Amino acid sequence: MPNRLLVLLLAAAGALSGQSRGEFFQTSTIDALVQGVYDGDMTYGELRKHGDFGIGTFNGLDGEMIAFDGRYFQITSDGKARPVRDEMRTPFASVTTFVPDIVIPVDGRLTLEDLKQRIDAALPSANWYYAVRVNGRFESVSVRIFPRQQPPYGSLTEVARTQPVFHSRNVDGVVAGFRCPEFAKGTNVPGYHLHFLNQEATAGGHILALVLSSGRIEIAMQREIHISLPSTASFGRANLAIDRSSDVKVVEK
Ligand SMILES: [Zn+2]
Repeated sequence: MPNRLLVLLLAAAGALSGQSRGEFFQTSTIDALVQGVYDGDMTYGELRKHGDFGIGTFNGLDGEMIAFDGRYFQITSDGKARPVRDEMRTPFASVTTFVPDIVIPVDGRLTLEDLKQRIDAALPSANWYYAVRVNGRFESVSVRIFPRQQPPYGSLTEVARTQPVFHSRNVDGVVAGFRCPEFAKGTNVPGYHLHFLNQEATAGGHILALVLSSGRIEIAMQREIHISLPSTASFGRANLAIDRSSDVKVVEK
């Protein structure tokens, strides 16, 4: 089966060459975000220096971020996407310089669960971080978008109850995000965290469900981890000694 062979060859090349170690860069931690640390001190101008691809949010929890090919977009809770300005800031974001190690062509119908299984089956191990990109045609996509918050901030589980959800059908677009290992717990989202932007770059969000009709999956291995912690008082005050795993599951699913 040529497709499988391609995957295996690329995986072997990526795993053995050691040339592309891929740096996964994140600012702040998911546990800080979950408990309401919605303002960070990192600008998007600074974040851009660490990658051309990634996902995140904005100060005040003002929508969802998706980046690929060096283009960064903000999707606000009205469902609309626009380019990110360098002076904007983020309380939580993850980026990398995307260099694919594994490529999987898709020509059959895949739900989000199918897609995750297809990718998992192609990974050499669940112990590294992976950046995941899908370019394709989607039968359906359901996304949520964080609505902008005003201080004093509530927790993210409270925000999740009021977040708008959008559904679209028969769209071309890009999925971008990461698969983090289980040991990322506390700092990031274990498992998959994926965002979507349509082909026209006008709409998207944090993916809740999708059906991929056809397309191409690209996976980039990440074996260097860089976590940049905010210098803000709100981050300093956050109680990061509590296990927030169940809250993270509520917020991300
Ligand atoms: Zn998200």
